[in-house]
Amino acid sequence: MAENNKKKNNTNEEKWKRVLFALVPLIVIITVFICGIIIMNKQKDDDKNVAYTQLIKDIDEGKIEEIEMTVGSTSVKLKYKGEEEEKHAIIPSTQAFVELVQEKAQNGNDIKLNQLPRNVFATMSETIISLLPTIVLVVLVILIFQMQGLGDKGKVYDPDISEDKITFKDVAGLDEEKSEMMEIVEFLKKPEEYTKMGAKTPRGVLLCGKPGTGKTLIAKAIAGEANVPFISMSGSEFVEMFAGLGASRVRKLFEKAKKVSPCIIFIDEIDAIGSRRASSNGADTENNQTLNQLLVEMDGFDSDTSIIVIAATNRPEMLDEALLRPGRFDRTINIALPDIKGREEILKIHSRNKKLAKDVDLKSIAGDTAGFTGAELENILNEAAIIATNKKHSGIQNKDIEDAVKKVTVGLEKHNRIMSEKDKTLTAYHEAGHAVVSRYLDTQKDIKEVSIIPRGIAGGYTMYKTNEDKYYVSKTEMEEKLISLLGGRAAEKIALDDISTGASNDIEVAMKIARDMVTVYGMSDRLGPMSMNLEKDPYQIQLLGNNLEDEIGKEVRNILEDAYNKAQMLLKAHRDKLDKVASKLLEKEVINEQEFNQIFEENY
Ligand code: ADP
Ligand code: ZN
Repeated sequence: MAENNKKKNNTNEEKWKRVLFALVPLIVIITVFICGIIIMNKQKDDDKNVAYTQLIKDIDEGKIEEIEMTVGSTSVKLKYKGEEEEKHAIIPSTQAFVELVQEKAQNGNDIKLNQLPRNVFATMSETIISLLPTIVLVVLVILIFQMQGLGDKGKVYDPDISEDKITFKDVAGLDEEKSEMMEIVEFLKKPEEYTKMGAKTPRGVLLCGKPGTGKTLIAKAIAGEANVPFISMSGSEFVEMFAGLGASRVRKLFEKAKKVSPCIIFIDEIDAIGSRRASSNGADTENNQTLNQLLVEMDGFDSDTSIIVIAATNRPEMLDEALLRPGRFDRTINIALPDIKGREEILKIHSRNKKLAKDVDLKSIAGDTAGFTGAELENILNEAAIIATNKKHSGIQNKDIEDAVKKVTVGLEKHNRIMSEKDKTLTAYHEAGHAVVSRYLDTQKDIKEVSIIPRGIAGGYTMYKTNEDKYYVSKTEMEEKLISLLGGRAAEKIALDDISTGASNDIEVAMKIARDMVTVYGMSDRLGPMSMNLEKDPYQIQLLGNNLEDEIGKEVRNILEDAYNKAQMLLKAHRDKLDKVASKLLEKEVINEQEFNQIFEENY
């Protein structure tokens, strides 16, 4: 994973951090312990301690035989007449006390006054104990500031010294993106040539894409290709407890980069600092300072600084526009989810160091994993390796990878969860409902597997075949998707005349699709082509008239009701198939593609 290199290059820093982290609680415990002992000793001594006024009175009354004091200490030892036990007293001032006692002695009082020379060790330890809380506090503050990163910041990965240099070869797919980045690589290789020519040099590139799509990877590969250091930091690391720290970190980061230039600065999750500067609550003011500092640094590059700042985000729409101005992140590259070919390549790359059995068909696995990110595909191969090891296979088999895909998509199979007969029947009809309805809808994908074995939080599942990547979805397809989503609930109602909570996720998904159809894709006949991103800008709706919210609600409800009715109609028309699929499920718990299709053959 991407983390590996960071870790390798920063083992020392990390180690120190961990040591510091471990020290903090230790110091706190020790302090509490020492204070406790001191307080307890004080309490134990209470009955042996004599108050100063009492002491004067006792001296007056001649009760005291001997007083022992140490120069420089205000604590004195007392011996009372006829008492064995030694007592203590604290005196306000040694000089005055000595005079007082000598005066009493002259007046015929037979007190013996022993003055001992200064005990260096005793006075020192007394001072230390009295200063201890302050010392501990200071140490703690220093440690916290250290951890907060007032010290060194920004992780450096140097392809020159790293054992596993990452280059474009390690990045599967993304061909267009890679060729776009080539320009930056060339620049980093020979910055002088560009500046000599007076060319305007690239500054910042914004990579947009879901987590795990390889943004860090491609940024690192640029560094690897150009053989320059890669300094990375996450936006969230700038946002810290102490106000003002973020800005100072940005400054430090760029200072460091200037020292090793030409180089790449990579800022992950830039939205954490670069969000729109809207409100002015505490955290935001902090972000403002950090963001401003970043802008200052980027604007302040001399024309001969060869630092490229690459930032990554999953939410480009959240970014402050100032960041996207010329001379800052003026280039945006979208990193999309990998398509089927990309997925196959990613699987190939990550199976390089794994032992695969001969039957492994990465192409078909790629076909089953539409919508997966590179990181998820990598994870699937790791899971497959674990499954293969547990099953004592000599290499990773195709089935192991398929199981890993299932494990990752629907959570672990829970064989030990006991389901009541009634729950089982309900789940069987629910899943059969999804599957049967889909079978009669042209745009819906073929069924790969139907199961009533609980996985994760789902009571059962219906798996579809996903063989092609789609870029556009038609209105009919969306409507039919809703019908198949609501097919589960419809089947429960028809077969058992009852409905369950099992459909709650289906309904949530359906609701979102229906809402997007109306508000994002402008697919509603009545409301017409309109598109608004209400999550980004909830006030958009007000521009379009007063009743729009009601109308959207009505339209969404119509779409959902329509889909639910169609699902019920379909299931009533094919009730025999519904019953057959459900009973087969109850019998076998899992039915595969062939078994499912068989039920629909004429003389089944
Ligand atoms: P992001 O920065 O977009 O969140 P990362 O770059 O950290 O994603 O990706 C995590 C891991 O997923 C990478 O280290 C790599 O192992 C794998 N990965 C993601 N995309 C690809 C790809 N296109 N080719 C090869 N591996 C990939
Ligand atoms: Zn369902």
